[in-house]
Amino acid sequence: MWDFSTDPEFQKKLDWMARFVREECEPLDLLFPHGGDPYDTENKAARAILKPLQEQVKAQGLWACHLGPELGGAGFGQVKLALMNEIIGRSYWAPTVFGTAAPDTGNAEILALFGTEEQKKRYLQPLLDGTIVSSFSMTEPHAGADPKEFVCRAYRDGDAWVIDGEKWFSSNARYASFLIVMAVTDPDAKPHERMSMLVVPTDTPGVEILRNVGTINERDELDEGIHGYIRYNQVRVPLDAMLGEPGEGFKVAQARLGGGRVHHAMRTVGKTQRAFDMMCERALSRRSQGKTLAEHQFVQGFIAESAIQLQQFRLLVLHTAWVIDNEPHGAARPYIAMCKVATAQLQHDIIQKALHLHGSLGVTHETPLGEWWAAVPHLALADGPTEVHKASLSKQILKGYRPAPGLFPTEHVPTRRAQARERHAAVLKEYGL
Ligand SMILES: Cc1cc2nc3c(=O)[nH]c(=O)nc-3n(C[C@H](O)[C@H](O)[C@H](O)COP(=O)(O)OP(=O)(O)OC[C@H]3O[C@@H](n4cnc5c(N)ncnc54)[C@H](O)[C@@H]3O)c2cc1C
Repeated sequence: MWDFSTDPEFQKKLDWMARFVREECEPLDLLFPHGGDPYDTENKAARAILKPLQEQVKAQGLWACHLGPELGGAGFGQVKLALMNEIIGRSYWAPTVFGTAAPDTGNAEILALFGTEEQKKRYLQPLLDGTIVSSFSMTEPHAGADPKEFVCRAYRDGDAWVIDGEKWFSSNARYASFLIVMAVTDPDAKPHERMSMLVVPTDTPGVEILRNVGTINERDELDEGIHGYIRYNQVRVPLDAMLGEPGEGFKVAQARLGGGRVHHAMRTVGKTQRAFDMMCERALSRRSQGKTLAEHQFVQGFIAESAIQLQQFRLLVLHTAWVIDNEPHGAARPYIAMCKVATAQLQHDIIQKALHLHGSLGVTHETPLGEWWAAVPHLALADGPTEVHKASLSKQILKGYRPAPGLFPTEHVPTRRAQARERHAAVLKEYGL
């Protein structure tokens, strides 16, 4: 059964969220606008405003909703989470206010699924309480899109794993209490069984942040960004620091990325809707050639195309969330890949049009559009580049197809017409055809 309605009780929660994000979270974006601000637990002023807001979210039962009930979360399911993320996506700070900021959400999922009781107490609980932040340390300076190229090693030495190597773009490492590190534990194993995942407190001797790399929409001073370039100098962690079994690094990494991609996709709907709203307001407000921009056909094209693209994408993401909730594990895989690819495209297309319609004002820092535009390339890279997801999607789709049985395609018209003639031969003969 297909149903596009929202449960009225849950709609009340969404209405509360929409008002709360607009009135309480968006002002934080303006007061503390830098990339690292929501993660900087040392920023006393920001934390003083943040804490009571987080308490309000908790009182509404909307805190850290990404975990399933078996893992201690609210158990809303992905469709409800998608609708929540659409609202959260309107504000940079909102994920922190709602306890659903990446990469902490994915790291919490990993710890909940693969962590020991001791690890859950030490890392997961404070993460869920919002008192610490974490980092995911997988990409390396020489390789990202293909983890099979990674070389950062972890080897056993007595009662410890020893990590040696470099990692690149470990977001929020400078603020993190711990890092989840993917390292090669068995270089001779099959490619997908070479790596393991280890949880490493950031203050472990040998963890050295070489540089905090900034993206084009963050600060431009060297070492002022939030993406850690880290050297692990013979970093020793106990054997039970491993999440999952040796060789299960890929499996653990996959566990954290699926739901997260759907959340990112729906947050992009929220952010892009804001850009679209700005586009429409501008079209009605500005005049050229004796009429409003809205009366020019090019501009009407911008608005119509954007509305269609936004609606198509929103339905794709909600359907993907529905498949995760209702169909067997794995059924959503191709849809998640579609969302991942289309997220970056949607953000690119609509923000570009909205910015362009604002003319010179659009390329300044006086609207949020410039910053959003500078972040457009991120989603096509973070969690893997678009090309890799397209290739994977295509492979999944082609598993359902076979080569044509003969020289011509199965849809070859003369062949099919001959089959149709054979099927109805008696009737055709009777009528002389
Ligand atoms: C904002 C942001 C946050 C991030 N946060 C984290 C984090 O917290 N932790 C972490 O570990 N990493 C993080 N990353 C890194 C991210 O996962 C990598 O950037 C991504 O996997 C691509 O790796 P790369 O940058 O090394 O690019 P490369 O692997 O060098 O790829 C560069 C380009 O080569 C092409 N290409 C690569 N492979 C293929 C292929 N198979 N087929 C066709 N073309 C291909 C694509 O055009 C691709 O864009 C983050 C990245 C960004 C932008």
